[in-house]
Amino acid sequence: MPTSPKPPNPRRGARPSSPPPGRGRPHARPEKPAPDRTTPDVAADGLPNVQLLRRGVERWQAGHPWIYRADLNGDPALAGGEVVRVTDHRGWFIGKAFYSKHSKISLRWLTYDDVPVDADFFRQRLQAADELRRRALPGESTYRVVHGEADGIPGLVVDRYGDYLSAQFLVPATEQRKALLVDLLQEQFRPRGIVNRSDVGVRNLEGLTPEKGLLRGELSGPVTFHEGLVRMSADLLEGQKTGAFLDQRENHVMAAHYAHGEALDCFSYVGGFALQLATQAKSVTAIEISESAAAQLRQNAAANKLGNLDVVVANAFDFLRDAVDEGRRFDTIVLDPPSFAKNKDAIAAAVRGYKEINLRAMQLLRPGGILISASCTYHVDEQAFEDMLASAAADARRRVQIIERRGAGRDHPVLLNLRETRYLKCFVLRVL
Ligand code: SAH
Repeated sequence: MPTSPKPPNPRRGARPSSPPPGRGRPHARPEKPAPDRTTPDVAADGLPNVQLLRRGVERWQAGHPWIYRADLNGDPALAGGEVVRVTDHRGWFIGKAFYSKHSKISLRWLTYDDVPVDADFFRQRLQAADELRRRALPGESTYRVVHGEADGIPGLVVDRYGDYLSAQFLVPATEQRKALLVDLLQEQFRPRGIVNRSDVGVRNLEGLTPEKGLLRGELSGPVTFHEGLVRMSADLLEGQKTGAFLDQRENHVMAAHYAHGEALDCFSYVGGFALQLATQAKSVTAIEISESAAAQLRQNAAANKLGNLDVVVANAFDFLRDAVDEGRRFDTIVLDPPSFAKNKDAIAAAVRGYKEINLRAMQLLRPGGILISASCTYHVDEQAFEDMLASAAADARRRVQIIERRGAGRDHPVLLNLRETRYLKCFVLRVL
């Protein structure tokens, strides 16, 4: 039996403004939340103070990079978008964070140290992010430059497509610092143009409206970039996401190693997988529901002189069902659907959707066929996805081997304490 209460977690090192760990007994009475304030509580350095309840402190001790509204001590009198000083339930400094007024996620940690959060702070974070890409992907010029929390700048996503950057400002704090962040990006990467692709629904949760447009420089028409030997083209202003799905880049190139015979790529977008398959397989059928994506895919196929690729504008669910009914067979199949669940309530339906397409794909594969099956739904984690694959294999009465368990590329680092940054699963299976 321990004789004294556990001291505060010391693993974050000494903090200058913290007194030594207290030795008093744990609070016996529940904390009384502070009344909602009408004027902000401001620290000596001019930053507003925000105090956590004990449960918020526990989340901080567990290393989670967010604090929810219910774990704040009262409702701070702040407009949102501020950098705030965060104190624990005893009033000791424990870090600095971005504050959001409208979101359920109130605080996103920036640092656990009492350092200024100024232009230099963000410059260093951008440099550290860039350094990882230079080490992990030497010689590449298309990759995710900043992956939000995982790169230490919550609410900022930046993708680089050669001479162009495409950025998303997802929280009030990054929206309000857009001019500074764009200046820093310009200084570091000297791009010909910077595009704003903040036309995403999550901005509504933050009290921001979706926006897009050119922020700096010029951009005329689609940009081209390479994935392995394949030349791709994407429209940064009108395309999906920031223009393309860079998280799958390394998986696209990997797919070429397995591709053979008659191949099928479902949910193709502009052909990230389909074009790679076409460099190796005898023929490729690409299924995409969006006319404009399918048109871009055809152009990408022509630019790569890949005449063995047939693009079909169709619903992949219908195509797969009909193909099974017609007794068709393939040797390589890729499934890379959009997210099927935007929240926890939709998980069961999402898993049913995944099972339907994976079961049909297994039925369609000749013995020894390869199934590359991806999911970008973070509410369905890797174990749930693997369980779904096992259940599909059982129903299909096929013996299925796992050859690779993959995720997003190395330019999408995963933050150990934030599962949400580990959203992409990509399994390579052999169906016997
Ligand atoms: N595989 C692509 C990315 C796919 S994103 C890549 O690696 O680059 C998902 C794509 O599926 C989008 O282009 C979307 O338009 C398409 N889509 C969504 N629902 C669909 C459906 N029911 N059938 C076919 N395509 C669909």
